[in-house]
Amino acid sequence: MGIKDLFRKTEKAVTETKVFQDVVSTLKDDPFYKDKCEILKKIEEYETIIIHRHRRPDGDALGASLGLRSLLRTNYPEKKIYSVGGDIPPYLEFLGKEDEIDDDKYQNALVIVVDTANKDRIADDRYALGKEIIKIDHHIPLEDFGNINYVQEEMGAACLILIDFYKTFSNKLHLSKECALCFYLGTVTDTGRFKWADANSLRLASLMLDKGIDTENMFTNLQVKRKEAFKITGYLYTHFKLTPSGVAYIYISKRTRLKYKATLEEAANLVNLLDSIKGSLIWILFLEYDTEIRVRLRSRYITIDDIGNHYHGGGHAKAAGATVYNKKEMKQLLEEADQKLQTFKLDHKELF
Ligand code: AMP
Repeated sequence: MGIKDLFRKTEKAVTETKVFQDVVSTLKDDPFYKDKCEILKKIEEYETIIIHRHRRPDGDALGASLGLRSLLRTNYPEKKIYSVGGDIPPYLEFLGKEDEIDDDKYQNALVIVVDTANKDRIADDRYALGKEIIKIDHHIPLEDFGNINYVQEEMGAACLILIDFYKTFSNKLHLSKECALCFYLGTVTDTGRFKWADANSLRLASLMLDKGIDTENMFTNLQVKRKEAFKITGYLYTHFKLTPSGVAYIYISKRTRLKYKATLEEAANLVNLLDSIKGSLIWILFLEYDTEIRVRLRSRYITIDDIGNHYHGGGHAKAAGATVYNKKEMKQLLEEADQKLQTFKLDHKELF
C-alpha cells in the first residue's frame, strides 16, 4: 500500500470514529434520542399525517396538536397535515382552527395522538383508521395504544415533549412564531403558570420566547372571563365543604350552574380556587353533566391519580380526572380521599 492510500484509509477511520463518538455522546446525553429519530423517520415516511388529542381539550392538548401541525406544515409543505378533534373551548379559539376531514384521508395516514393516556379519551374515534399510530404523552401510562408509544412522565406538558423534539433536530427543523405560541401556551397552562416547572421546562420554554411571541395577548386570552364565570365563584366560596380530615370539595349541579349562566368549562375551572385552604391538601370539584358527574382531583404532596383510576379516570400524581355516576359513588370517592389525607396527616405531623 502506497503512502497516499494509507493516509486516505487513516483519514476515513478517524472520520468514522468521530461520527461514532458523536452518536455515542448524543445517546449518553439524551436517552430518548433513538426514539426521537424513530418518530422523525415515520413523519418523513408518510404523505398524510393526522393529529388527534384528548376530548375536552385544555391548553396543552390543543397547543400540542395545533403546534405540531404548524411545525410539520412549515417543514414538510408537500405533505398533508391535519389536526382534528372538535369542541374547542372559547378561551382557546384564538390559537387557531382544527381541520374537518373525510374518513378517506385516513387511508395510509400516520396518526399522531398527543397528550392522551388511553384510547377512550381520544377525541374523534377515527384515529383507529390510520395505518400506524404514534402516541406522544406525559400522563402516567394507562394504555400503549400506539405502534410507537413515546411517553415522558417527567415532562410537565405534552408541549414540552414536542419542544424537546424540535430542539433535538433544530439543525434541520424550522419552528415558526405561530408554533411557538401554541407550545408555550400548553407549557404555561399545564405547569400551572410555571408553578410546577423544573429547570429543564424553563430552558425549553425559553426557546419559544426567543421566537418573539406576544405573551401579553396570550395571557389576556387565558385570563379574561365572562362576568357569569365570576359570579359563580361566589357560590363556590360560600358552598364548599370539608370532609372530617379536611378534603375540600364542591358539588355543582346542572341547576346551580344554569342559575349562574356559567358554561361547563367555566364551572370546571373553579377547581383551582379551592387550592389554598389551610390543612386541605386534597381538593375536588364535582360537576354534574347530563348523564354523569365529572370529577377533577387536585393535591399537594399526596398522590391521587390512583383514586382517579378507581373511578374511570387517571392523569397525573397530583392532578387527575374521573367520572362518577351518582351521589353514592361520589360519597365513596370522598371517603377514599379523606382516608388518604388522614393517613398522610398522621405520618407527617410536622407539616401541621
Ligand atoms: P382534569 O381535571 O380533567 O383537568 O384532569 C387532570 C389531568 O388528568 C389532565 O392531565 C387530564 O388529561 C387527565 N385526565 C382527566 N380525566 C382522565 C381520564 N378519564 N383518564 C385519564 N386521564 C384523565
